[in-house]
Amino acid sequence: MSLFHALRPARPASGAQVEQLLAVLARSTPTVHLPGSEEYAAAVAPWNLAVAPRPLAVVAAERAEDVVAAVRFARRHRLAVTVQATGHGVTHALDGTILVSTRLMRSLQLHADDRWVRAQAGVTWDEVLQAGAPHGLAGLSGSAPGVGVVGYTTGGGHGPLARSHGLASDTVRAFEVVTGDGQLRRVTKREHPDLYWGLRGGKGALGIVTAIELDLLPIRDLYAGSVWFDGADAPEVLRAWARWSVSLPSGATTSVAMMRLPDLPGVPPPLAGRLTVSVRFAWVGDPARGAEVLAPLRAAATPLVDTVAVMPYAALGAIHADPVDPMPSREAHALLRAFPEAAVEQLLRLAGPQVPDCPLVAVEVRQLGGAVSRVREPSAVDHRDAAYSLFVVGPAVPPVVDAVDRAAAALLQGLRSWDTGGRLPNFAPPSTREAAERAWSAPTRDRLRRVSRAYDPRGVIAAAAPLRR
Ligand SMILES: Cc1cc2nc3c(=O)[nH]c(=O)nc-3n(C[C@H](O)[C@H](O)[C@H](O)COP(=O)(O)OP(=O)(O)OC[C@H]3O[C@@H](n4cnc5c(N)ncnc54)[C@H](O)[C@@H]3O)c2cc1C
Repeated sequence: MSLFHALRPARPASGAQVEQLLAVLARSTPTVHLPGSEEYAAAVAPWNLAVAPRPLAVVAAERAEDVVAAVRFARRHRLAVTVQATGHGVTHALDGTILVSTRLMRSLQLHADDRWVRAQAGVTWDEVLQAGAPHGLAGLSGSAPGVGVVGYTTGGGHGPLARSHGLASDTVRAFEVVTGDGQLRRVTKREHPDLYWGLRGGKGALGIVTAIELDLLPIRDLYAGSVWFDGADAPEVLRAWARWSVSLPSGATTSVAMMRLPDLPGVPPPLAGRLTVSVRFAWVGDPARGAEVLAPLRAAATPLVDTVAVMPYAALGAIHADPVDPMPSREAHALLRAFPEAAVEQLLRLAGPQVPDCPLVAVEVRQLGGAVSRVREPSAVDHRDAAYSLFVVGPAVPPVVDAVDRAAAALLQGLRSWDTGGRLPNFAPPSTREAAERAWSAPTRDRLRRVSRAYDPRGVIAAAAPLRR
């Protein structure tokens, strides 16, 4: 069932009516792509190739006014609107909607003296990192800088410096947003404070952001990278990481991942076609002190590859070395209240070296805490008290996809004693009611629902549907 029907059960539109509406849309907004065209295919292309979204039409927005036109059209004709930039967080929630593509909205202005940046909605973190580098200024990007700034930041934004410097959403100065009533609004702590609260963490439920203003941090270099170990050493490394992380200073952000990288061109030979364990580490400040902090982990076993060194901040993507090219994948995620030795043993039992046919490409545990748990300005970001985040990913390619689903479900089940029940919206998109209940606490959902109803009485913004049903 399309969101259109889900939102408007009393007034279903026939196929012919939809065709007519789309013809009107094509006349009233600058660039509209319809199914069947190459431009439509390019605009809906997801990063996760296992999801094939089917919006009714794509509005390729170049300016905020195009977004206003698309939302007003949808409002008038009782259609639902979604938004996509890079497609890194694609879901089937786009089906049956008018999709606003922000890929062409790429302008970026850096204000080096006052340390902030204004980015239009299609800008990626790569672009912000490159713009800030000559000035020694850093934005709080995630592990994969190809991700969109707005999609990432509205979902909270837990990156490789999360423990030391907090979440990207904590650095937002202002949004420009088109709300479901078709108005373009500037939103700051003082202007529309309810939207300012909810756009940080509310993940697009309150409108389509056309531009964002973010504080930048004076960080030129960091001591960071990844220490890779042989998969056979996974028990020693994971146990050491779990113990070490408990008393880690909040100046350090770390994660550990069991990786089964394919033997393909581009994958470094020592890491290809085998189980390895990667300990990621990021430290801002004196590198010698960072090396001291990391030393016990480096000694956990003999590293295969050790890339931890002083690096330019703009090379941040090398810490996790996430895949850059689109691929078909299945993902699962949970937040953990702790990661004690018993949890480590479960992870090893289900995905460690004793499970040679484990189909999961990555089983990652990120440590949270530190600046993640400190609320600077109240927002719709929940679960700040979770201690760790578990994320697993495997190929969504038949026939292995069934084994991936089973392995991911078994891992979540095996770790249920430590599962908080909460989920981060960036890692588990809140596109269903159940996912929304996990992304936000009941009070946050109530407030998001109230703000959504105030600015979008007709329920045009599809991302709010799981909250409003
Ligand atoms: C390889 C990889 C690494 C990642 N690493 C991290 C990480 O370290 N930390 C982390 O927190 N997340 C991470 N993520 C998750 C990522 O932040 C989310 O998937 C995010 O939604 C991607 O945003 P996007 O705009 O690139 O994707 P899109 O698919 O274009 O958008 C995804 C969603 O973002 C929202 N959105 C996008 N644009 C707008 C807009 N203009 N207005 C309102 N809402 C909008 C919408 O809800 C949309 O459905 C990662 C994802 C991948 C694939």
